[in-house]
Amino acid sequence: MKLAVLPGDGIGPEIVAQAVKVLNVLKSEGVAIEMETAPIGGAGYDAAGDPLPEATLKLAREADAVLLGAVGGPQYDALDRPLRPERGLLRIRKELNLFANLRPALLYPELAGASSLKPEVVSGLDIMIVRELTGDVYFGQPRGIEIRNGERVGFNTMLYSESEVRRVAHVAFGIAMKRSKKLCSVEKANVLECSELWKTVMIEVSKDYPEVELSHMYVDNAAMQMIKWPKQFDTMVTGNIFGDILSDAASMLSGSIGMLPSASLDEHNKGMYEPIHGSAPDIAGKNLANPLATILSVAMMYRYTFADIATADRIENAVKKVIAQGYRTGDIWTEGTHKVSCSEMGDAVVKAM
Ligand code: NAD
Repeated sequence: MKLAVLPGDGIGPEIVAQAVKVLNVLKSEGVAIEMETAPIGGAGYDAAGDPLPEATLKLAREADAVLLGAVGGPQYDALDRPLRPERGLLRIRKELNLFANLRPALLYPELAGASSLKPEVVSGLDIMIVRELTGDVYFGQPRGIEIRNGERVGFNTMLYSESEVRRVAHVAFGIAMKRSKKLCSVEKANVLECSELWKTVMIEVSKDYPEVELSHMYVDNAAMQMIKWPKQFDTMVTGNIFGDILSDAASMLSGSIGMLPSASLDEHNKGMYEPIHGSAPDIAGKNLANPLATILSVAMMYRYTFADIATADRIENAVKKVIAQGYRTGDIWTEGTHKVSCSEMGDAVVKAM
């Protein structure tokens, strides 16, 4: 297995180092894993003047899977847009055609107290959000800021082709089939033509999956329902911008953004695996970050790209065990639990494995 390891910026290198410890356990047991590290984001800009250096993209293309930390930082905010770290991330997703982003939001029972919602609202929560990742208003053309009628206007284009909606629909229905066979498609078809097409195509694709119960919800209502009674959801599918926002909201249901992994897949299940959070500049370099989302991203890599369910389960069970043992980084710490650093949490997971 050939892995491209792209730590990125801020807490990226700290959390990726813990995930690499987990991979090294597997390697020491004889699993053939080849890891090569390359810069991306601000680190890419610093090293090669490009947030996605050519050599990094080449490495990612040749790898079976990519493990990514996070990108971005205030020191890069004044750069021209194409040079900003986040642009490197958008480009690698597009270049590798990673159109389906899987974001599970799962609540470990012991962390019910760390959620900002009441324990009875979130306990037992297990949602899978499938977010389209390479289209929508983030990529649609035209886009820009220009002078019209003597003042500045900013504009972006929300755009989906039916083939883009269809392929992510198939991924979402496939996942719903393996879960409770309930799929909720989230859009804003009451006001947006782009969403109207989304909904139409979802209904068309649903004919191929008669066992799956498809429902539809406007995104504003979905945001409200997710806070009111999140357990009504099982698998959700939505476009790029709505999914970006809803999945961050879902992260708080599960205690901390530091707990949530993600997978971004192409049609051959090649994937890029990363935590859903950003580079957390406020705690970077302090050994305080929660590495569990990154470690759980490695578990997703085994589940989806390498189809090695036993190893995926083993890593997830090790995480469950350290949570049950009371280990907590600052973001999930509550009275009476054992506060640990980022690297100590990585060591605890390795021990639990
Ligand atoms: P963020 O996710 O980096 O941080 C939000 C808050 O959550 C901060 O208080 C941070 O300390 C905390 N947090 C995040 N991850 C944590 C972890 N693993 N453990 C403990 N606490 C954690 O979002 P932001 O502050 O809006 O953005 C910071 C930078 O990250 C920006 O440059 C932004 O563009 C970038 N960003 C990158 C990605 C990505 O690489 N996928 C995603 C979102 C934001």
